[in-house]
Amino acid sequence: MARIVMKFGGTSMAGSERIRRVAGIVKRQQEAGHEVAVVVSAMAGETDRLVNFCREANALYDPAEYDVVVASGEQVTSGLLALTLQAMGCKARSWLGWQIPVKTDDAHAKARIEDIEADAMLASMAAGEIAVIPGFQGVSPEGRVTTLGRGGSDTSAVAVAAAVKADRCDIYTDVDGVYTTDPRIVAKARKLPLVTYEEMLELASVGSKVLQTRSVSLAMKEGVRVQVLSSFIDETAPAADTLPGTMIVSDEELEGSDMERQLITGIAADKNEAKVTLTRVPDRPGAVASVFAPLADANINVDMIIQNVAKDKGETDVTFTVPQSDLARALAMLEERKEAIGYFRLISDDNVTKVSVVGVGMRSHAGVASTMFKTLADRGINILAISTSEIKVSVLINADETELAVRVLHTAYGLDAAA
Ligand code: ADP
Ligand code: ASP
Ligand code: MG
Repeated sequence: MARIVMKFGGTSMAGSERIRRVAGIVKRQQEAGHEVAVVVSAMAGETDRLVNFCREANALYDPAEYDVVVASGEQVTSGLLALTLQAMGCKARSWLGWQIPVKTDDAHAKARIEDIEADAMLASMAAGEIAVIPGFQGVSPEGRVTTLGRGGSDTSAVAVAAAVKADRCDIYTDVDGVYTTDPRIVAKARKLPLVTYEEMLELASVGSKVLQTRSVSLAMKEGVRVQVLSSFIDETAPAADTLPGTMIVSDEELEGSDMERQLITGIAADKNEAKVTLTRVPDRPGAVASVFAPLADANINVDMIIQNVAKDKGETDVTFTVPQSDLARALAMLEERKEAIGYFRLISDDNVTKVSVVGVGMRSHAGVASTMFKTLADRGINILAISTSEIKVSVLINADETELAVRVLHTAYGLDAAA
């Protein structure tokens, strides 16, 4: 017998019929002799709908009230799944964020989980009851509802798995594992049986939305075994215990496996970036700091940065990227400081995409970046900015060229599935 946390995403929970299929999967897992807890997302599209209502009500909405609204999507699906399980003869009950409780900080709309009390849940699971938990929601120190940021149900699931010391956390979604790139964009993407925590963390942080970034860092920190697999299956599909999906593993586990490694593990694209250029910034100590310090103070995350020395001595152009959602704020802030910084023009472009290649193999092999640049150049794709880390190379390109870039890179690194 094992203790398993199962998480079902929005597409898996969209409508009564799909919830019945989910209940069937949960019931089979329990019948296999396991103790189970289930974490659910709101129905697909529901959170977007609720966010829009908040915007319509008040463009400068209070994040605490936003949380009250958007947390409701998961409340509905957790109750519906408990009802459906009961209709199938299972013992099941829902546990809302404040009931468990899932204690978070008070950063509304992007709260962090601080602690989960597992005793009551454990007792009910031991008594054969299926615990159904709405993902995405928690409770602040003041006792108000919080949410964990978009895609946060993955993090709820991993946190519950850590709290109940689960043997595995199965993340059920609408694809059957983690692929070399988004299989909905590149038909030749290949499913990976294993990915390391570090690679998954990097892939998630550069735009592979299959797992929320925080869920991966939490799994890595707590040593939670995570599997990504499909909920769009029938009774004839191999059981989750046979690990049909993708397992997220440690470096040691990967080395111990006989999986053949490519230099590059995966490719991701992130369309949520915007590019900002300041021309003719004075080339003197402190000038660049005067650009970035106010952005940092305003909690605006700057990602890629390039600085070109202009032809005229004593001036440079500074280009960087920020999340699209922060662009308006960043521009207003820089506009305000035009005199103080001393730049000439402020130019922005949000029709850009960051494309990244990720792989631990990069540590020991040169040439990954040059292959990337040459492959894109051969297709006439212009690179607007570059950044690298130990296991990743990212380039910024025009958004219209995203699919082409991902496809040609996928082929260039030998990732295409056999036809
Ligand atoms: P859920 O609602 O279950 O949380 P998400 O939409 O958040 O599902 O994540 C699943 C989606 O992630 C897939 O439908 C796929 O389009 C996308 N995706 C992006 N990159 C990858 C990848 N490398 N492997 C698998 N899926 C990916
Ligand atoms: N429903 C939330 C969202 O759409 C959380 C999640 O699905 O993970 O962001
Ligand atoms: Mg998701």
